[in-house]
Formats: sequence, structure tokens, C-alpha cells
Amino acid sequence: MILKAFEELKRFLEKPKKIVIVGHRNPDGDAIGSTLALKHYLGKKGHDCSVVVPNDYPDFLHWLPGSETTYRFDWQNSQSQRMINNSDIIFLLDFNALHRVGSDMQNTLEKYSNDFAMIDHHQQPDDVKYMYSDVTICSTCQMVYQFIEMNNDLDLIDTDIATCLYTGIMTDTGSFRFRSTTSDTHRIIAALIDKGAENDRIHNNVYDANSYNRLLLLGQALSNLQILPSYKTAFITLTDEEKNRFDFQKGDTEGVVNYALSLKGIIFAAIFIEDKEQKIIKISFRSKGNFSVNQFSRNHFSGGGHDNAAGGKSDESMEKTITNFTSLLSEYQSELELSYEE
Ligand code: 5GP
Ligand code: MN
Repeated sequence: MILKAFEELKRFLEKPKKIVIVGHRNPDGDAIGSTLALKHYLGKKGHDCSVVVPNDYPDFLHWLPGSETTYRFDWQNSQSQRMINNSDIIFLLDFNALHRVGSDMQNTLEKYSNDFAMIDHHQQPDDVKYMYSDVTICSTCQMVYQFIEMNNDLDLIDTDIATCLYTGIMTDTGSFRFRSTTSDTHRIIAALIDKGAENDRIHNNVYDANSYNRLLLLGQALSNLQILPSYKTAFITLTDEEKNRFDFQKGDTEGVVNYALSLKGIIFAAIFIEDKEQKIIKISFRSKGNFSVNQFSRNHFSGGGHDNAAGGKSDESMEKTITNFTSLLSEYQSELELSYEE
């Protein structure tokens, strides 16, 4: 755990400030939940706060309290730039390095002349002035709860803050099932329910909001599933043509990689998703046990993340990417064999 210049940050925030809170590109439940929760909290402390995210996020997160007030850097570019440049401090939430916001927004942030504060749970964070980083914590939302607790402000948590934090903890822990879910996580979740988070409504809004096309796309993904039993590995591919056939919308492929990991005996899973617009294959990796997909992705696919959940990309064609991926596995055979005791 790194807690850097926290007391100084507390003093800095004693007077009302103009604050911008930033989440990573392709924001997920934890990014949107944590940025909105922090906005609500710092707003109650008398600050003028705005959330700016690089690009759009899935429909199933748009119901979150305060979502209508977020700025999108790609779409509301001049307003976003103005807000960033006029702010006294920028909070970076749920990401560890400036390049994770995408190159346009990264350029703006790199020119920023005031200080950054980071609250994040990814490995190998960039160094910024104020930092709360802990790779052992399941979600940035849990860290925002603990940040509020460190400020002795738990009584400021209201239904909106509780709802945002519950959502990010739920999505980043796979509904409280991953290893990163601890008894502390459950105690915090219980406290959030006491503060007004409606667990059934949140689960319903996030997980039972599928379109028919999304289920058909899932069907396609599952029929593309390939298994490599000797490496305890399974992977899924989705081409641009397949995405278009089922009217792909942002967020439609979220969680699909977990179906590959749900196979008995499989401890390493990947999904390769063609993105013709960005001219890349976007990859999600997942693992069980000690096999670090963060390391695997850093080594081979210009990515990173956590030990058991990471992302990366490839600039090659789908075919070449898959050939490359499968040929890498023999290097990892013994690691994969020893990773997980059933
Ligand atoms: P997902 O596969 O759900 O997109 O991401 C899994 C985890 O890896 C998340 O914590 C996410 O922030 C991180 N991640 C995803 N893509 C990348 C990437 O390209 N680079 C890095 N460093 N991390 C990523
Ligand atoms: Mn997260």
C-alpha cells in the first residue's frame, strides 16, 4: 500500500477547490462508480467537482446517480479541456498511468500545471504528488470508501454515494466472488446497504439489462470458443463482422471472457475482439490462481492490469494474433500447470 502526502492533501482540501475527477478510457463499473461517488462526496465537502471520462460507457451504467453530469472528453472536448485547465487539482481514479486515458486526453493531462491525486488498485502506478494505491484491494470503489473513512466522513455517505460504490465493488469482484473479495469488502458492502444501496435494484440494472442482440452476440462468442486442454487455456474471438451482425453496442462484450474461464479445469482465458476503427485487436485476459495475466499481457500484448484480470492489444490481424498467442503458451506450460489447486 502506498499512501503519499495524504495529510497534505487533507490540508489542501480544507478550502473549497475546483476539482476534476478522471476515469480511464472505456470506463467500467468501478471507474464510473468511483468517480461519481467521489464527486458526490467532495461536493458535500463544499468543492466544485466535475467528472471527465475519455469516452462513452455502457448503457447499463447510465442510470447511476450523477451519470448525466459527466463530461466526455471526446464529445465535449472544449468544455472538458477548459474544466481540466481551470481546476486546482485532478483526481485520477481506477487507473495507474496517464496513457490509460487515450492519447488525446493524455496530451491535455500531460500539460496540466497543478497536481494530481491518484486513488487506484492497479500494479506499478505512475508517481504523482498525492497517492493512495493498493493492489490488494478489489476495487477503486472500496478504496474511495476507505478514503472517506480516513477523512472521518463516513456519516456523509448517502444513498447516491452508497449506490455508486456498491456498483463498482460488485462489478470489479464479479459479484463478490473473486479472490480479491475479503471480509472487509463484505463489511463495507453491508454498510453501503445500510446507507441506502438497494442491492437487488443495482444487480438488476447492471446485469439484467440485456438486449436480444447482446444475447445473440454472446451465442456467437460461445460458438467461437476454443479450448487448449493441455495448457488449461480457453479463448474466444469476435470479428468486426460478427459484432456488426448483432448490432454491437458498447459494453456488449463485457464479462464474455468469464464464460471461457467457467469451463472446468480452465485457469487461463482470453477474448480477442477486433476493433476495425482503432485498427487493433483488443484483448481481455483472465486467470485463476497464481498465473499472472498482468505479467503475460505486459510481456506480450502491450497491456497490464491485475494478476487475475488484465487487458492488452495487438496490431496484427486476428489470425496472426491467435497464432502468436497459442505459440506463446508452451513457454508458460509449467506455470499454467501449477497455478491452481482444485
Ligand atoms: P478488461 O479486460 O475488463 O478490459 O480489463 C481488465 C483489467 O485490466 C482492468 O483493471 C483494466 O483496467 C486493465 N486493462 C485493460 N486493458 C488494459 C490495457 O490495455 N493496458 C493496461 N495497462 N491495463 C489494461
Ligand atoms: Mn477497478
